[in-house]
Amino acid sequence: MANRNPNPQTAATHPEQIARRGLLYILSSPSGAGKTTLARLLLEADNNIAMSISVTTRKPRPGERDGVDYTFVDVTRFEEMRREGELLEWARVFENLYGTPKGPVEAAIDAGQDVLFDIDWQGAQQLSERMPGDVVRVFLLPPSGDALEQRLRSRAQDSEEVVARRMAAANAEISHWPEYDYVIVNKDLEQSTASALAILEAERLKRARLLGLADFVRDLRNAL
Ligand code: 5GP
Repeated sequence: MANRNPNPQTAATHPEQIARRGLLYILSSPSGAGKTTLARLLLEADNNIAMSISVTTRKPRPGERDGVDYTFVDVTRFEEMRREGELLEWARVFENLYGTPKGPVEAAIDAGQDVLFDIDWQGAQQLSERMPGDVVRVFLLPPSGDALEQRLRSRAQDSEEVVARRMAAANAEISHWPEYDYVIVNKDLEQSTASALAILEAERLKRARLLGLADFVRDLRNAL
């Protein structure tokens, strides 16, 4: 994870520079709702949030790069990481194992950098339990069942059976929507990106995250 905020702990002299703890921005949705595109647009629009790169036992799809989209590992390595406590959360999704490496996330948030997670509801639950004050949970919904089906069909020439299975999986994922802090209905990608950025901006301003605020206010009052 690249740290694009080299010195966020600098003592605050200006309100925008008040040191703060990074937040964990979790984006979940059924596949086909536009989550990958929204995540990319969010990363492009904001340079203080970086993507968490998961490890997975799934085989790379065409075009996916090791260490960029995922770190691809075998089951033995995954189990070792899990046993050694190297994963912040992990889950079985379909037939594969997915997990979030702990080190890069802890380093980023301590440095005041935000981290974006494309993980499922199981991962969202685990991160919420482990780091309740740090998570911001956003669920992305498709605008309609038809739109989702169209997206799933357009992805590949899958059999009816595969499409039906994916629709059922989408339904199960959507059942977890009440566990999230925010829900975005993805009718329009531009509008959804604006909403996702507004959430990020507002969450950054939360008093509890602004570690340097007390010092800033003390200096401010001393100057009065
Ligand atoms: P895909 O195989 O299509 O890339 O991802 C399948 C599902 O696994 C998606 O819903 C994605 O959000 C989820 N996922 C990806 N990485 C992780 C992870 O590290 N932890 C958890 N819990 N889910 C993940």
